[in-house]
Amino acid sequence: MAKISENLSYIQNKIDEAQKKRKYDGQVSIIAVTKEVSSERASEALENNLFHLGENRPEGLLAKKEEIKDKAIWHYIGSLQTRKVKLVINEIDYLHSLDRLSLAEEIEKRAENPVKCFVQANVSGEQSKHGLDKEDVIPFIQSLAQFTKIQVVGLMTMAPNTEDESVIRKVFSDLKQLQQEVVNLHLPYAPCNELSMGMSNDYEIAVEEGATFVRIGTALVG
Ligand SMILES: *Cc1c(COP(=O)(O)O)cnc(C)c1O
Repeated sequence: MAKISENLSYIQNKIDEAQKKRKYDGQVSIIAVTKEVSSERASEALENNLFHLGENRPEGLLAKKEEIKDKAIWHYIGSLQTRKVKLVINEIDYLHSLDRLSLAEEIEKRAENPVKCFVQANVSGEQSKHGLDKEDVIPFIQSLAQFTKIQVVGLMTMAPNTEDESVIRKVFSDLKQLQQEVVNLHLPYAPCNELSMGMSNDYEIAVEEGATFVRIGTALVG
C-alpha cells in the first residue's frame, strides 16, 4: 500500500490543475472515504491533515469513531435506511444522502441539532443509483421548509460508471446548474453552496465543473 502522503500529493496536484481550469471560485475539500480501510489507515489520513472522513454504513462509522481518538469531521455518504437514522444522526457532521421525505421526517424526530445535509440527485437517471430525479430536486427541497433540523448545505451525485468523459461531465455540470437554481431560491434553510461530486475515477472532471467536496476512497487510502 502506498503512503497516503504520496497519494495525496498526486491527487492535490490534479485538483489544483483542475481548479485553475474552472470558472468557479472557492475551495475544494477532500473527503477521505475510509469505508474499506482500517482505523489505522484512517488515522494516517488524519495525520496528513485530511480531517474529512467518509463512511457509508452505520457499523463502520461507529466503529471508526470508537477507535479513532483524533478529531475528525464525519461525513455519512451512503444511503441511509430510515430505521438506522437514530444510530448515526447525532454522530455525524454531514449527511450526503438525503433523498426522501420519510428520511427527513425521521431526522427531524431524532436529531438533537440541525444536520448539514446534501440532497442526493440521480442526475444520470441510472436505475441502480440512489437519489431524486433531477426534476424532483427543487420541489423536494421546497417541501423541507417544515423541518427545523435540516439544513440543505448542497447537492450530491454519483456519476455513471462509464469511460465516456463527456457523459460524466454533463452529469456534473447539470448538478452545478441545479445547485445554482436552488441558491437563487434564497431559502433560509437551504443555502446550498456546496457540491459533493467526484470520486477516484472522476474527481478532476468534478472539480472542473464546480465540486466543493470530492469523495475519494481507492485512489487515496485504498
Ligand atoms: C465508496 C464511495 C466513494 C469513494 O469511491 P472511490 O471510487 O473508492 O473513490 C465516494 N462516494 C460514495 C457515495 C461511495 O460510496
